[in-house]
Amino acid sequence: MPDNQSMYSLIEKRIARDGAKTAFVLPDGSELTYAELGAHISRMANALVAAGVSPGDRVTAQVEKSLPNAVLYLATLKAGAVFNPLNSGYTPAELDYFIGDAEPTLLVCQRSSLELLTPIADRHGVKTTLLLEPDGSGSLIDLAAHQKSDHATVPRAADDLASLIYTSGTTGRSKGAMITHGNLVSNTEALCDTWRVTGDDTLLHALPIFHVHGLFVALNTTLSQGARILWQPRFDLEGALRLLPGSTLMMGVPTFYTRLLSSPAFGRDTCRNMRLFVSGSAPLLAETHTEFVQRTGHAILERYGMTETGMITSNPYAAEGRLAGTVGYALPGISVRIAEPEGKELAPGEIGVIEVKGPNVFSGYWRNPEKTKAEFRQDGYFITGDLGMMEPDGRVSIVGRAKDLIITGGLNVYPKEVEDELNALPGVAEAAVVGIPHPDFGEGVVAILARAPGADGAGIASETAIIEALAGRLAKFKCPKRVLVVDELPRNAMGKVQKAELRARYGEVFKS
Ligand code: AMP
Repeated sequence: MPDNQSMYSLIEKRIARDGAKTAFVLPDGSELTYAELGAHISRMANALVAAGVSPGDRVTAQVEKSLPNAVLYLATLKAGAVFNPLNSGYTPAELDYFIGDAEPTLLVCQRSSLELLTPIADRHGVKTTLLLEPDGSGSLIDLAAHQKSDHATVPRAADDLASLIYTSGTTGRSKGAMITHGNLVSNTEALCDTWRVTGDDTLLHALPIFHVHGLFVALNTTLSQGARILWQPRFDLEGALRLLPGSTLMMGVPTFYTRLLSSPAFGRDTCRNMRLFVSGSAPLLAETHTEFVQRTGHAILERYGMTETGMITSNPYAAEGRLAGTVGYALPGISVRIAEPEGKELAPGEIGVIEVKGPNVFSGYWRNPEKTKAEFRQDGYFITGDLGMMEPDGRVSIVGRAKDLIITGGLNVYPKEVEDELNALPGVAEAAVVGIPHPDFGEGVVAILARAPGADGAGIASETAIIEALAGRLAKFKCPKRVLVVDELPRNAMGKVQKAELRARYGEVFKS
């Protein structure tokens, strides 16, 4: 019989070997061993079966982060079903679309959204709806409590689906990315290897778990190695400052790191046991990287990935190889190339679309063969939609999303180049550069600057002074035609700046 290629089998082996070790330390300080975690997962897997879930069925969960929510994810893998997490911020119309599209057998939600979700679930033929509250109570937990604590892991092949994750797509409808057990296993192995994750690690887990970063990257790497997880419902500065001295590993989005740096209490002593800080999901500013090194002695390791592909590149483990503003090299077993829009591969140093191929790449968009076909090359490379360039030695830098590229007077402007200049100006926390319809140029370059905390606006020079300052540093066509100052840039839950929202907000700026 072939080996079970379920992602869960990696974690199951660890539970069998390291049963007495601590798997989770909860916010109240209580601990759960690997053996206890295994029993919870088995009971939850039996509860899924009791709720009518068969292998291949979707389990949709729209609940706050909690330990039972993580157990539900692991139990879904164990039962051979497909985990479909939904961000708690979705609107009713979005939920109607996701539930209709995913057609889950089981929907897990909170009492507070039951009134909204019941008619949606009924309309789309969802068999069972169960509750899971943020405090870990609810009908799902009651059902699991009555189940046996042994469950035979359902064998899965590498190309069987493990998860369905809707992309955060800022244009058009979100698409369901079909992620297989093979995708998860290969990416877990590549990351554990590259980041040297071991059973001696203690991870500070403050990311949400409806997204690949907190769900797959953070949980699969640590649980497959028998590491300890300090489980936080969300990132809060006070909690992070309290827990970091007992941690060796942290995975975060750039805003976690800027928030840590905003505290004078954060420094070398807080990081005395730290081995590695990882950042991703949005670009880490070079200034943040530099300030972090100065304050703590640690170079944050930046990596790049996306829902459809898991992690693609990573800066190297050796601290001196972690370069600010780059996302490093393709992970083991993964090929990356830079291509023209038509697919022709570009030479090192040229900017083009990042394409990727490997065991990490998803198997396509759920029930959307046309979209799947459009985003893959004939030779199997997936077109990420990110623009970047590669050094001759394979190091990758990201320039932005292809759809954020600005074409002004027929010339290309890569927002990042302009943003880097603006970020270096006094009083600027972060700049976002977008293209706005312009009567003469097609699009005009517009800069939106967020004030640095504490700066009352006086710290940022006037619009004309900024445009003049940039004129000496950038070709004229790249210089912003308008500069607007705001308190904060709009971001999504993963800290990504929402450029589509900025384009909508300032869409009329060139209309007289
Ligand atoms: P998601 O599917 O929500 O994980 O978003 C994936 C997108 O986030 C990628 O296509 C990139 O545009 C962006 N992204 C992820 N990691 C980085 C990074 N280190 N630097 C810049 N952009 C990133």
